[in-house]
Amino acid sequence: MGLVGGEDGGVETVLVLGDQLDRGRGPLARARAGRSRVLFVESRATIRLPGWHRQRLHLVLAGMRRLAGELEAEGVEVDYRPAPSVPAGIAAHVREYQPAQVVAAAPSSFDGRRSLTALGVRLERSEAFLCHEDDFAAFAAGRARFRMEDFYRWQRRRLGYLMDGDAPAGGRWNFDGENRAGPPRDARAWPKALRQPLDDLDREVLAGLPEGSFGAAPDGLWPTSRAEALRRLEHVVAEVLPTFGPFQDAMLAEQPFLAHSLLSPALNVGLLHPKEVAEAIEVAWRTGRVPIASAEGLLRQVIGWREYVWGRYWQWMPAYRDRNELVATRPLPPVFRGGQTAMRCVGEVLRSVAARGYAHHIQRLMVLGNLGLLAGIEPLEMARWMQRGFVDGAEWVMLPNVLGMALFADGGAMATKPYAAGGSYLNRMSDYCKGCRFDPRRRTGPDACPFTTLYWDFLDRHAERLARNPRVARQVAASRHLGDLGEVRRRAGAVLDALDAGAL
Ligand code: SF4
Repeated sequence: MGLVGGEDGGVETVLVLGDQLDRGRGPLARARAGRSRVLFVESRATIRLPGWHRQRLHLVLAGMRRLAGELEAEGVEVDYRPAPSVPAGIAAHVREYQPAQVVAAAPSSFDGRRSLTALGVRLERSEAFLCHEDDFAAFAAGRARFRMEDFYRWQRRRLGYLMDGDAPAGGRWNFDGENRAGPPRDARAWPKALRQPLDDLDREVLAGLPEGSFGAAPDGLWPTSRAEALRRLEHVVAEVLPTFGPFQDAMLAEQPFLAHSLLSPALNVGLLHPKEVAEAIEVAWRTGRVPIASAEGLLRQVIGWREYVWGRYWQWMPAYRDRNELVATRPLPPVFRGGQTAMRCVGEVLRSVAARGYAHHIQRLMVLGNLGLLAGIEPLEMARWMQRGFVDGAEWVMLPNVLGMALFADGGAMATKPYAAGGSYLNRMSDYCKGCRFDPRRRTGPDACPFTTLYWDFLDRHAERLARNPRVARQVAASRHLGDLGEVRRRAGAVLDALDAGAL
């Protein structure tokens, strides 16, 4: 069926979801003045789900309203419809406009696709990623077992980024070893994050958010228009990327961004496409503006990790979200819901999440995720908390990252070992421990770092399973020989009780 008119001569409606704000791809790319109608639904049921960060809701709603305004300015007919739910909004639209059909790019979530299909919406192949999930499935089908690195090299080869013929630019595929430095000791200047002043549309969106949404109001850090997203990409290439590489795993209490790109929110709602970011990286390196380790480090995140996570999500859903191999059943502790904590690392990262809906990947994995892993927090609850609490959250991002990478709930499908770490790792990679009342070197006693205590207790609790994993077998064996294992167990019990009571 063509875009203009169905059998009844009606006009086709293009449904645009909140993370499909890409004017240049999918059915929305065909929308033209006088020939198309575009439907946006603001679902009250979704907006009112508990736990959304105010800045996440603002990003999506302001992004939708700005795109709707841009389409109207082009002369495209827009039905912007607040509704009790997405299905209710579509049904009301169909009753009112009688479109020949409703079409949408395939949603990014498993449930979204199922729901729209059941409603009779025709789904088109999503072009939001460089590697479509069907192509990922074909890649996976030929391999008994593969890791992100295999997929990343395949992406590099077939897409041609940072390649010199068949060889990787700079002579190596991977500059990870140069990108894991601890925090620098000098007081260097970090790139300044751009902001854009809020306007009337932003204020209108904020005025309509439910009372009690989580987190601070936005301050212009996250772009909500295509033009602003492109300005951020230019800024990243010129000002951030040159210093991106070496300190991407470091954590500093006073520097929430370091040299991270902050592009994931715009990418994850469609205001930027990964192809644009990859091409900008390529040009920056070819013109000598950034070192290869920095260029490769960001390219790895954009065409490697991000697309690998997307592919794995579709490969393993829907069974994946029920995975809980370590039988972790602890409810999310009060500290994640605004409670106080004396653990400085956790407190600083959660403050950053509340302030801006953001923490960088090591803060997510090795502070919050590590705490969830060591304490045995129920995986899906933790994933949902991150999905709604982070401005770049989405189910496809959070299930593989939280269940797989952080909590080892898939038994090692995503990660070759549990990313469990005690206080010494956090002390090496951050400046948090200096101002903390706990001692990262101690595992017992009232001053013992909770991470250090829980790390040894975790190895002890899961010794039987983890002893079979060659990447942690040595640490498990060491835990069996601790002279103070009984005291570690007692201290761990007290730490977990305090965590549950919001008193840690
Ligand atoms: Fe975190 Fe432990 Fe360091 Fe305190 S001592 S900041 S709890 S790692």
